[in-house]
Amino acid sequence: MRAAVLREYGEPLDVTGVAEPDPEPHGVVVDVEACGICRSDWHAWQGHGEWADDRVPTDFVLGHEPAGTVVAVGDRVRSVTEGDRVAVPFNLGCGACSECLSGHGNTCLDGRALGFERAAPGAFAERVHLPYADYNAMRLPEGVAARDVAALGCRFMTAYHALEHRAVVGAGEWVAVHGCGGVGLSAVHVADALGARVIAVDVDDGALERASAAGADETVNGREMVVPDAIEAITGRGAHVSLDALGRAETCRNSVDCLRERGTHVQVGLTTDAEKGEVSLPTDAMTRWEVDFLGSRGMPPTRYDELLGLLEAGDLDPGVLVGREVGLDEVPERLAAMTTYDTEGVEVLTF
Ligand SMILES: [Zn+2]
Ligand SMILES: [Zn+2]
Repeated sequence: MRAAVLREYGEPLDVTGVAEPDPEPHGVVVDVEACGICRSDWHAWQGHGEWADDRVPTDFVLGHEPAGTVVAVGDRVRSVTEGDRVAVPFNLGCGACSECLSGHGNTCLDGRALGFERAAPGAFAERVHLPYADYNAMRLPEGVAARDVAALGCRFMTAYHALEHRAVVGAGEWVAVHGCGGVGLSAVHVADALGARVIAVDVDDGALERASAAGADETVNGREMVVPDAIEAITGRGAHVSLDALGRAETCRNSVDCLRERGTHVQVGLTTDAEKGEVSLPTDAMTRWEVDFLGSRGMPPTRYDELLGLLEAGDLDPGVLVGREVGLDEVPERLAAMTTYDTEGVEVLTF
């Protein structure tokens, strides 16, 4: 089969023939119909994460937002059969540890990250292996297109889990979203769908326009305003919930600083090579005002149904974010285009 292979960090992916995946006893093979192209792929391709010993391997296939049809099934798989159309979450649970069994497969003690580690090659390929399929394969509702699910990708599931399951946003609450790239825009859209009043923060007017179209009630350009002051002026006392989609020291601090008393910060963006995983926080003020600081990663595979239900009901329409569908041969160039932010909305590989 053909796949786009990472040979050297930052060098164009090599579109070439590779071995077909065989299903492990607990796994299935999915014929990929569509796979979102994500900034996480770009970070992986660039070789970021060396400081955390978290670089992807080389001679490796990236791609972690696939949907498609099951074409081969391992001996021990019970609930997935050939011909099933499925979505594949990037945070794959083992299905057997205490985290997975208690509904927290995204923090699985023995999980695999699709398209980021040797044990789970990715989906910039004609076919992809899905391990522990009984736990991780999410059957698609009738009429839901693979392309839309791929656009849902990691960005919507991550935003949804952060706001609905972690921060538990209530209708009418003020939600600030710092950074309006893929996951930030998704957070704006999800917060709006949850009935919140949404403030989008970015330094780029184009990104803020897209945020307004996605459901933001107010926008703040961080290049022109002191962000916490601007949010206090809009809300009166600060946001109820604030989400940092970027992971920069400044956006994380702004997110905490813009909260009202007993507000909730939720961290979604991972830090950059500048922060190396550490950000200074106003802990005394957080104690005084009982501010919560939550981490959030992906979404438990067992809660995918909620998101697919919203899609089926028409409450979420990730398809409108798709700016371009590309073939496998174009993936190396489209990944490179992310270096200069020269991309059109969400770009999706389709076969
Ligand atoms: Zn597990
Ligand atoms: Zn992604």
